[in-house]
Amino acid sequence: MSTPSTPAPSPANGRRRWVPGERLVGRAPEPTHADGAPTIGVLALQGDVLEHLRALRRCGANAVEVRTTEQLAQVDGLVLPGGESTTIGKLLERFELMQPLRDRIGAGLPVFGTCAGMILLSDELDQDRTQPLIGGIAVRTRRNAYGRQVDSFDTHLEVAGIEGGPMDVSFIRAPRVQQVLDDRVEVLASIEDHPVVVRQGHLLAAAFHPEVTGDDRLHAAFVAAVERSRIPA
Ligand code: GLN
Repeated sequence: MSTPSTPAPSPANGRRRWVPGERLVGRAPEPTHADGAPTIGVLALQGDVLEHLRALRRCGANAVEVRTTEQLAQVDGLVLPGGESTTIGKLLERFELMQPLRDRIGAGLPVFGTCAGMILLSDELDQDRTQPLIGGIAVRTRRNAYGRQVDSFDTHLEVAGIEGGPMDVSFIRAPRVQQVLDDRVEVLASIEDHPVVVRQGHLLAAAFHPEVTGDDRLHAAFVAAVERSRIPA
């Protein structure tokens, strides 16, 4: 048995052991969105849907759950939450959402994937090659790249384009990019030379969970990108 004492922060790399639920943002009153705010869906098949809905609402979006093709058709942007990428991928196929989602992505739908969502947006994985992926970002990604649940950690991370200092983020059984496969992929943040935030066109992916810490800057950037995408060129 391990001792119940709080694990010490690791000063060597600025990481702190992740404790389940410890940093989950409490239920604050949810601001209502302004008229004309973009409608942003959160894929609600499995994973931490509620935290993303709350983060998006704090950023002024009209945030809604997406489980059906009809709901998918209503949104201006979509968040793929963290959870279990194998489960989410299989459920996308079972509920016949995989192809409609790929079609909407092909037509320019902005999508933000976090953790399992990043895995799903990857074109390739370097382990199980049979797992269903949505694809769209030309990277080869490794699941559980930092180890098992007990190896999860919180850290501060500088993200290109995000102002105001390093972001406060949680890596929970997180993936990382092993290889960038195309020079259209922009690397916005890395840890030890492995990309953990990447963007390709209208697709954004982060290996960590920005929605559990209350640091909403990446959500705000995504909401702004969705707003820009609605303005006809
Ligand atoms: N390890 C999970 C997976 O492979 C992702 C974990 C997460 O989303 N926090 O899908």
